[in-house]
Amino acid sequence: MPNSNDYIKMDHEYGAHNYHPIPVVISKAKGVWVWDAEGKKYLDCLSAYSSQNTGHLHPEILEAMKEQMYKVTLTSRAFHNDMMGPFLKQVCEVVGPHLTLNGSKTMVLPMNTGAEAVETGMKVARAWGYIKKGIPKDKAHIITCADNFHGRTITICGISTDPVTRHKFGPFTPGFSIIPYGDADALEAEIQKIGTENVAAFMLEPIQGEAGVKIPPKGYLKKAREICTKHNVLMLVDEIQTGLCRTGKLFAVDHEDVKPDMFFLGKALGGGVYPVSAVVTREEVIGPDVIPPGTHGSTFGGNPLAAAVGMKSLEILIRDKLAEKSEEMGAYFVDGLKAISEHKTRLQVKDIRGKGLLIAIEFEGNARPLVEELMVNGILAKDTHETTIRFAPPLVITKEEIDWALEIIQKVFTE
Ligand code: PLP
Repeated sequence: MPNSNDYIKMDHEYGAHNYHPIPVVISKAKGVWVWDAEGKKYLDCLSAYSSQNTGHLHPEILEAMKEQMYKVTLTSRAFHNDMMGPFLKQVCEVVGPHLTLNGSKTMVLPMNTGAEAVETGMKVARAWGYIKKGIPKDKAHIITCADNFHGRTITICGISTDPVTRHKFGPFTPGFSIIPYGDADALEAEIQKIGTENVAAFMLEPIQGEAGVKIPPKGYLKKAREICTKHNVLMLVDEIQTGLCRTGKLFAVDHEDVKPDMFFLGKALGGGVYPVSAVVTREEVIGPDVIPPGTHGSTFGGNPLAAAVGMKSLEILIRDKLAEKSEEMGAYFVDGLKAISEHKTRLQVKDIRGKGLLIAIEFEGNARPLVEELMVNGILAKDTHETTIRFAPPLVITKEEIDWALEIIQKVFTE
């Protein structure tokens, strides 16, 4: 029987080294817990980057998946299937009230991964710009934010400010600019600079997850919304990580009662078992006059298995009030971390921040050794940008489990 070291060696020998995982090999999971190849148990405080909001192996999601698996799994969009429609209807009912609809109705374009949803949304925004806003040919412009993370395609890497993400991947797609995050005046100025008539969209994360849980100043989202409306610029929000209850609301934009023109959803929409993503917007933006047949597609997007999983995941997130749970447990977790930071810690704590169960603790120095010690002590978390550790457990975590985690975190941080 191979052991954890053998599996790590295999990854290293046969796989591209495009990740630097912490040295743990997970072979089993349930709820908030995972087990390594030797049977040691850990609390999952990453949740596959917020994909496991409903907890690992949710029995109802597995059941819905299993039932669908023995009926039909993939047809391609060359044919209709009897699961996609009900799934899209449910997404419209859930997401529609959070969108700016302007008298139009909600419509969905289903994809698979997060990056695909982002790419799709940017294509839709450009097409809307030409067809509805009247932007001259090849002039459509999209404004993005510094320190963003939207995925890994070439276009998305081209709008990243992280040199490691950009690496040696240029030349990049034209038609984008990058402004400071959290600065509404910079958005107004950039639109003026590019020319209102050419700006199709402003794209942002309402909280920047990968940047280390960066929360913009209060009022920023509202101001950005107003500026977008004033200039007839679409507000595209990437809620792939922050959406679906992670931050204590269904969507992070709900914290400011802001209604964007388009949502990108992914990760938790797939219930932690299957990649499911979606672009959700209004008909005026994505209707057949903007995206007619043949202009976009995906072999797997909207497949019946994905639809079954997506429907059950959405149902559970809402039925089990996971947003409220996230808000309550997140506040409890943050209070615990703040109490720990009042002790003398091994690395000085610079900041503790969070919304719901999307929490970060930032240190004055490299946090990777702390992450590895947390692992040895039974907690799986991941450093981001070296100095920050994110705690984002499944939203089904209990107070008792957080108490257990805080005891270990205190030991590791102060020892
Ligand atoms: N957008 C955001 C905000 C993300 O956090 C991520 C992944 O971490 C993505 C997009 C990309 O998603 P995927 O890895 O499924 O392509």
